[in-house]
Amino acid sequence: MKHLSVGKLLFIVLSLFFTCTVSAKKPIKTLLITGQNNHNWQVSHVVLKQILENSGRFDVDFAISPSQGKDMSGFVLDFTPYQLVVLDYNGDSWPEETNRRFLDYVNKGGGVLIYHAADNAFSKWVEFNKICALGGWEGRNETSGPYVYWQDGKLVKDSSAGVGGSHGQQHEYVLNGRDKVHPIVKGLPVKWRHAQDELYDRMRGPGNIKDCLYTAYSDKSTNGSGREEPLIFTVDYGNARIFHIMIGHAGPTPEDNTAMQCTGFQVMVLRGAEWCATGKVTQKVPKDFPTESQVSYRRDYKEK
Ligand SMILES: [Zn+2]
Repeated sequence: MKHLSVGKLLFIVLSLFFTCTVSAKKPIKTLLITGQNNHNWQVSHVVLKQILENSGRFDVDFAISPSQGKDMSGFVLDFTPYQLVVLDYNGDSWPEETNRRFLDYVNKGGGVLIYHAADNAFSKWVEFNKICALGGWEGRNETSGPYVYWQDGKLVKDSSAGVGGSHGQQHEYVLNGRDKVHPIVKGLPVKWRHAQDELYDRMRGPGNIKDCLYTAYSDKSTNGSGREEPLIFTVDYGNARIFHIMIGHAGPTPEDNTAMQCTGFQVMVLRGAEWCATGKVTQKVPKDFPTESQVSYRRDYKEK
């Protein structure tokens, strides 16, 4: 047996060290903005952090605004350390400086995940509405942009008069895949059953959807629109990577939180978030993903 020279041994040790260091991925620095919402943000922001951090892929900081009606002037945010911004905010205007910095972050190709009622916010802020592509409520109507729905294999923009944003009774429903190649959805079932949740309909805005990933049928029997509604999509906005997910209405507690406990919702958040931050999705399709007929839950917000 040959003896290894000291030089060779050192080379091997250093190579191993280098390989281990490079392959251990750094968590994605994430800023989650919340503090005001007509929804239970006290539950949703904690749960979103758990979903993201339990995957080992994200490190989430909170920016919690003053409560509604309070002085917002001190709510000036620094986006520069972050690869991902998660919006769980629907409330008073941010200070101009925060708006400016947010647009600067987005215009430099930043990653933004728009979660559920975050698309209700800032109905009069033109750029924000372009970043969301579609929004609802807060006075939105035909002046906010067309109602965008899915019909005959494509998105239709309907500019006729009407409300912007509504939903029927909460119920389980099937999400219908409209894209098989986008990294966020590649390999996932085309149809999967979502846990009981709201189904946003009649959403309006500039309608600059880039890749429509999943739609769902809003049945009139549940007081819906009778249309196939785009619920999960990316947004066409410069170099930014924007992922908009309209599902996931928060429940009263993290334990009683059916829509967010859905495995499909959590996997969408995780895959969308990684894509926003890096442009890639390295996650495998999990074994517990829902099927067309079977809802799946991760009640503790962790992959089993
Ligand atoms: Zn809701």
